[in-house]
Amino acid sequence: MGVARGDHEARGAARGVGAQQATRWAGCRGSRHSNMDKFKEECGVFGIHGHPEAANLTYLGLYALQHRGQESAGIASSDGGRFHVSRAMAYVNEAFNETVLSSLVGTIAVGHVRYSTAGESRLANAGPLVIDCAHGEIAICHNGNLVNAGELKDEMVRDGAIFQTSTDSEVILHLYARSKAPIVEDAVIEALSQVRGAFSLTIMTKDKLIAVRDPHGFRPLVLGRLGDALVVCSETCALDLIGATRVRDIEPGEVFIVGPSGQKSITPFGPAPLAHCVFEHVYFARPDSYVFGQSVNEARTALGHLLAREQPVEADVVVPIPDSGVCAAVGFAEESGIPLRMGLIRNHYVGRTFIEPRQSIRHFGVRVKLNPVRSILEGQRVVLIDDSIVRGTTSRKIVKMVRAAGAREVHMRISCPPTISPCFYGVDTPRRSELIAATHTLREIETYIDADSLGYLSLEGLLTAVGPRSSSYCTSCYTGQYPVAFPRDEAAYLQLALKLDQPGNEERGGSPAAAATSDVEELPRAGVGPREHSGTGNEGQGELIQLERVKR
Ligand code: SF4
Repeated sequence: MGVARGDHEARGAARGVGAQQATRWAGCRGSRHSNMDKFKEECGVFGIHGHPEAANLTYLGLYALQHRGQESAGIASSDGGRFHVSRAMAYVNEAFNETVLSSLVGTIAVGHVRYSTAGESRLANAGPLVIDCAHGEIAICHNGNLVNAGELKDEMVRDGAIFQTSTDSEVILHLYARSKAPIVEDAVIEALSQVRGAFSLTIMTKDKLIAVRDPHGFRPLVLGRLGDALVVCSETCALDLIGATRVRDIEPGEVFIVGPSGQKSITPFGPAPLAHCVFEHVYFARPDSYVFGQSVNEARTALGHLLAREQPVEADVVVPIPDSGVCAAVGFAEESGIPLRMGLIRNHYVGRTFIEPRQSIRHFGVRVKLNPVRSILEGQRVVLIDDSIVRGTTSRKIVKMVRAAGAREVHMRISCPPTISPCFYGVDTPRRSELIAATHTLREIETYIDADSLGYLSLEGLLTAVGPRSSSYCTSCYTGQYPVAFPRDEAAYLQLALKLDQPGNEERGGSPAAAATSDVEELPRAGVGPREHSGTGNEGQGELIQLERVKR
């Protein structure tokens, strides 16, 4: 038994690009991701059992999940005796070609697209992570972040463990390898019983596919069927692409196993309050997917309806900021009766190798992705619809661009509440000190982005739009109240962030994250007036960790 590894040292592995060039590309990454001021996607996972073309279907599944992670892509397959693995720092279509895929033989496969939310962006951290231990070989694909990975890792390192990656997924593998449980699934359960936080996992052993979702159900994970084969993936859009049908969600806290002796489902973890990530509906998931049992398109359109009711405005045209603002803009236009026009056109072919000229063209970073349509905007009162404002820098540039195209008035409407807190559950967010809504009033943000008016959807409106099970959602990035305690080092980090928020602290824009972000401009100073945006009480349940507690 052994692992046939095909890790590619470079982006564009299928084209045989060298490691030196890969380093150069890695250097461009910051520029690419900073073009638009958004929370960054997390990861996408896929798994299939019982199909002769397991790797090919996994490739297609990852293709559909590409929006969830663009830094690396990987597939591991099992032929019942050997594992075959290929990973690359690349988009899915660049990471694999026919030769690579034909080497990934076997009827079981798991795949991963990654955006690094924990650990650096390098090939060693790319999924699937594969190890060989006393229980045999295992490959793991992980979406989510563990909140106690650092503590567990420190403990194991003190005990002599050697870690090869900086991911929290490797912590699960170490715990698994140390388990004395006699059978593989018991070892997986023993390992996962020790971790806290967000995990939607697809796991492969030599003859089994195991899918696991944390008891809070932070990240989505859906079960599908393709003929006799079973498929597990992050979003239903991956099932659609391979022609599979959705069976059901993998339930929060469920361990689903399919292997030589059939399939079984167990719920070994204790009950926990549900905390589905509401931002999946606002921004992350594809609108053609169903997540948490609900159509993303319908939820997003409902956000637009409610936004129009809560934040009405006299205007001539509704213009979405593409692509993520489109569904909410449709809803806003339907509700308000103001016509929807595509006044901003997105260039979909901007790749990660895009190199920005330094100062020669102001606001080039946004312009390369979005271009205004003068014939739609000129002389009009425009309502721009977006799904979030993170730092405010991109919104400011877009408003300026729309005014330059002749708009008479520019009103900004956001289809979620103000983002005031970082995420610890698998989404890459800037520090609290860089979130403009954490440190500035509504009016200050409105002034900074130079909009004639600015309005956000309320938390109540957001939870109404995502349906009847509104209490099952995590809303921490809008409330600062956390359903799962974050770890000691993160608490210290947040404490530091709160200190950095204090007026007069010069480090506010000088954090490592800010330094890596070429779009960052000087933000306005935090005002002393009362906050005007709403942050109603937390609708989650269970153990709540509030920023105020950390503050002391
Ligand atoms: S903090 Fe925000 S982004 Fe993170 S899981 Fe909760 S809702 Fe999602």
